[in-house]
Amino acid sequence: MSKTFEKLKPYLDKAMALQTARSLFEWDTQTLAPFGAADNTSKVNGILSDEYMKSLINDDVRQLLKKLQEEQEQAELTDLEKAIVKELAKSYEQLESIPPEEYKEYNELTSISSRKWAKAKKDNSYSDFAPYLQKIIDFKKKFASYRVKDGKTPYEVLLGDYEECFMIKDLDAFFDKFKAEIIPLVKEVYKKTDTIDKSYNSLNYDIEKQKEFCKYLSGYLGFDFNRGVIAESEHPFTLQLHNHDVRITGRYLENNLESSIFSAIHETGHALYEMNIDDSLTQTPVGTGASMGMHESQSRFFENLIGRSYDFWEPIYEKLVEAFPENLQNIPLEKFIKGINKVSPCLIRTEADELSYCIHIIIRYEIEKMIFNNEVTVDDLPKVWNQKYQDYLGIAPTNDSEGILQDIHWSFGEFGYFPSYAIGTAVASQIYEYMKEKMPVSEYLRQGNITPIREFLRDNIHKYGATKNTNEILKDLCGEEFKPDYYINYLKEKYSRLYEL
Ligand code: ZN
Repeated sequence: MSKTFEKLKPYLDKAMALQTARSLFEWDTQTLAPFGAADNTSKVNGILSDEYMKSLINDDVRQLLKKLQEEQEQAELTDLEKAIVKELAKSYEQLESIPPEEYKEYNELTSISSRKWAKAKKDNSYSDFAPYLQKIIDFKKKFASYRVKDGKTPYEVLLGDYEECFMIKDLDAFFDKFKAEIIPLVKEVYKKTDTIDKSYNSLNYDIEKQKEFCKYLSGYLGFDFNRGVIAESEHPFTLQLHNHDVRITGRYLENNLESSIFSAIHETGHALYEMNIDDSLTQTPVGTGASMGMHESQSRFFENLIGRSYDFWEPIYEKLVEAFPENLQNIPLEKFIKGINKVSPCLIRTEADELSYCIHIIIRYEIEKMIFNNEVTVDDLPKVWNQKYQDYLGIAPTNDSEGILQDIHWSFGEFGYFPSYAIGTAVASQIYEYMKEKMPVSEYLRQGNITPIREFLRDNIHKYGATKNTNEILKDLCGEEFKPDYYINYLKEKYSRLYEL
């Protein structure tokens, strides 16, 4: 280990410990903390966040980092140390570019604005939220402008925070192709949506039995209960303290069986990624997934490509029927598979089917781009939103709660985040195509043998943590960088077959 890196290590360890404590509080807030805890606990969180910032942003670390970036020092670093220095430099650039007083003001704003958003959504009143959204956008434009370089636009700076491999030209190419090929298909399928009946899904399903089955599913996929736990929360999510402590949550609805099943599979996909990160990387700045997009590729790989396939359910469907015989004993596997792949018109992104999901993302991407190119005012956003839904999906919201107000992201200032969902979904298809060339995936699934699939992902993706970016992973694994065609072709083939087009 280089002498300079050795000096840096205690600072990294302290920052990691503080971050772990913050994560644990976040987990607790979302799962078990009593409702009344919020105000007092937020004081604790404030102090921890402050200490975290100070542990990283200070003169000592700044000097060490500068030294480590010099050529001579670089020659002495191991690959892992180099990756850590690179990752640290990225967070430094992000955190240091914003003057502390503006950062504080912005944090105060977003803690209020997310509450204002929740209330405005409940009251279906966009005008109550619009002034806050305006302020958030102004801040984000200013923050992005501090970091604009190498010919990037402010929106590209924000996109890069979630997925560094994709610039606007890449996303435009992906989304234009997707729109041209998939929008006509969605409209065709919408005409035949009634041909699939899945009324069985909205019968009454005992919550405890759902929990039990979902736990079984997570374990079946490889979730390690010695290094992970499952709890409940309003919105399912995954959180890791390190690779030996990975936590997921589920949400259970009495009249919607699919909802809990597919969230369980989705979050297990995220969890497997974190559990499989190499021991040498965990608790370092590169000890997590490569990017938001890469993470989402792993959850969606299991949720859609594996979890909605006939082969996956063949060995375990019987177990589901046994859990709910009163609802499912007359539903053959073929009918269940059609049900879980049914496409129907939907205005809400989180409830969208696999075929139209990406169109919801494209709409948000196009609107964000307009916002940051100063092509639309905050007052005009609902109109633009509704028009895009009409144009692309042929359906339009009748109120703002099911339109412009439906997602929480903007109220936290998360602009540039949405495309990672689409990138991840497309990456999953690319990996799947390649995996099928390398091993008999269908056969393994039908045998109930998930291990080779999980090990393939571990050895080619998971174990590297954030030491490689999305395109580097894809190139090493598939021999080529990101290519959306696999995803587009997969959707076309699957849904033309399913709806006999
Ligand atoms: Zn996810």
